[in-house]
Formats: sequence, structure tokens, C-alpha cells
Amino acid sequence: MGWFRKSRKKLPESEKEELWTKCPRCAAHIFKKEWRTNLQVCPKCSYHGRIDSRERLALIVDAGTFEELDADVTTSDPLMFTDVKGRYAEKAAEAKIQTGLKEAIITGRGKIHGTKAVVGIMDFRFMGGSLGSGTGEKILLASEYALKHRLPYIIFSASGGARMQEGIVSLMQMAKTCAGIARLHRAGVPYISVLTDPTTGGVSASYAMIGDINIAEPGALIGFAGRRVIEQTIKQMLPDDFQTAEYLLDHGFIDRIVNRSEMKGFLHNYLAYSRS
Ligand SMILES: [Zn+2]
Repeated sequence: MGWFRKSRKKLPESEKEELWTKCPRCAAHIFKKEWRTNLQVCPKCSYHGRIDSRERLALIVDAGTFEELDADVTTSDPLMFTDVKGRYAEKAAEAKIQTGLKEAIITGRGKIHGTKAVVGIMDFRFMGGSLGSGTGEKILLASEYALKHRLPYIIFSASGGARMQEGIVSLMQMAKTCAGIARLHRAGVPYISVLTDPTTGGVSASYAMIGDINIAEPGALIGFAGRRVIEQTIKQMLPDDFQTAEYLLDHGFIDRIVNRSEMKGFLHNYLAYSRS
């Protein structure tokens, strides 16, 4: 009967912490394994956690079908920019090591439940998903690829806005990316924009808002200027849900909110519809 007396080994505090995570919105404790199997969405309040580009790629594109495009396009430093926190070139190099990416977006072709498409997936870990010249170049090149092969183009945005360390060159990416998408529009090639948390600044003011259909994940922060800047400018308090996906849907800025678990199926259905 020795096993009745077997004392339960207590887990050290550090290991306990590794097993659990806390929802940033409702503070529920969630088993990390459950958090991952639930696609990093809180099972209690449906809070959608941020996921990186590789994780999203695995969720959306059929396994083994993704072929990356323009993988070597990377950051440039036209202004040789330096601020109090250091040189831009060094920060970019650091981001590359930390993320294993060369830019704040990965682009490529793949299949979504068997339907061919070109996808661009931004990665907020890479300098806040900022829109630099390399990012804009990749978005444009992927749109040209989509046009040439007449494949629908889907961009998942996750960005703090233009990469100000590149100055005016970063702002020019807004026009450049939109020009590429306008060509798709003229040729009747579908372009779908998916806005994830957060999509702000110059990205929300350019390619993220000009989809044939603009869809968002629940609770995503979407806006141009920050809440405080707007409140100070208009001298008024803004509602609590201001700049959330739900607020934008209510006010006609986006077309639909789609849960992460349903996103792939939704995109597939939309592509099938736009083909017919
Ligand atoms: Zn929660």
C-alpha cells in the first residue's frame, strides 16, 4: 500500500508559473496548454492574444503549401538615423536576431483549404510591425505577383504605423502599397485586408483599410492617432470602446469581425464566392 503514502512532489514556483498564463483582459488563469490549443484566445472572455507571423501562417495556410516570396528584402537606413536610444541600424539588426525575420512582414503564395492565394502576414515583434521601405517593398512585390498570376491577395496587418526612423521614405510606402493594390482592383483581382491587434498609424491609413472587404479579429485595436492625442485635440473624452474592432464595425469602418478559429474557413468561403 506504499503508493497511498507516496507524497506528492510539489512543483517549484518557477515551474508552476510556466504551466499557467493569465488573460490580460479578464485575469483568468489559463493552463498554458489550453491557451495554445485554443489558438491563444481566452476560453473565458474570448480575448484574442497577439500571435506572430509564423503562428498565423500555420493557422491560415495549408501545411506544406507555402512558398515564401522576396525573402531577402530587408531594412534600409536611408537617413543613417540615430536617436537617444541608439542607431536604427543596430535596432534593426537586433530585431532580425530576435525574430529570425528580415522585415516586419512575410509574404508568399500558398493554399487556403486548397484555394491558391498570395498572403502577407505582418509581425508585431519586428520593430512594432512598423512599415519601413523593406516592408512596403515586400507588400508591393507580392501585389505584383498576385496580379501577374491573378491570385487573390490577403494581408494580415499588425502594426504600430510607419517606421519613423526612415522618415519620409517610410511615409512613401503608404502610397506605394496602395498603388499596388489599386492595380489589383482595376484588374478585378480580390484583395482582402485582415486587421489584427494592433493596426494603427500609417498602416491603418493605407493598405489595411482599402480591402474589397476589411475584416478584423475581435477586440483588435484599430485607429490612426492614439486616444490621448485625439482627446487633447478635440478636448473631449472618448468612449471606452473607441478604436476597437467592435466600435469600428458599428460605425461602418470595417465589414466584419471574425474569430480566429473561424478565420481560415471564412477566407476560404469568401475566395470561393469572389471566384464565382
Ligand atoms: Zn479572458
